[in-house]
Amino acid sequence: MYIAGKIRRTMENTDERFMREALLQAREALDGGEITIGAVVTCNGRIIGKGHNMTERLHDATAHAEMIAITSAMEAMGGKYLDQCTLYVTVEPCPMCAGALNWAQTGRIVYGAPDPRRGYSMFSPSLLHPRTKVSAGVLCEECSSLMKDFFSSKRNIQSSSDASPRG
Ligand code: ZN
Repeated sequence: MYIAGKIRRTMENTDERFMREALLQAREALDGGEITIGAVVTCNGRIIGKGHNMTERLHDATAHAEMIAITSAMEAMGGKYLDQCTLYVTVEPCPMCAGALNWAQTGRIVYGAPDPRRGYSMFSPSLLHPRTKVSAGVLCEECSSLMKDFFSSKRNIQSSSDASPRG
């Protein structure tokens, strides 16, 4: 019981540490006028890929943070599967990214804020690979407030329905 609790706490600390790295990526996106979503991929406790949304810079609607992070992780791994890896992303992946994470057979996905409009779980949780483990809500407040900052600065709207609400 004690050991299990201790392991869980250690894992939570690790998750928060890497989610902070994903948040750093998200802030970089903000600097570039991109939607504030960041992602990192880790393997054996080391970051092997990272990215943030680049849809504006690349003129590519598919240039989501997860896509960029997993592509760079695959390059680092020299392989197309990320079954030993964890992807951390500040906002719940969309169906496209969930599909890509499925193709990569991603071992684990950790996300911060839910996305009630475009999150994959709104469509079908089975978009992910059956062996992929999911943890949601890590640093949720920070992840979603960064999104809210983005939308309110971009569109000057009040509490937006675009930004993912807390919890
Ligand atoms: Zn996506």
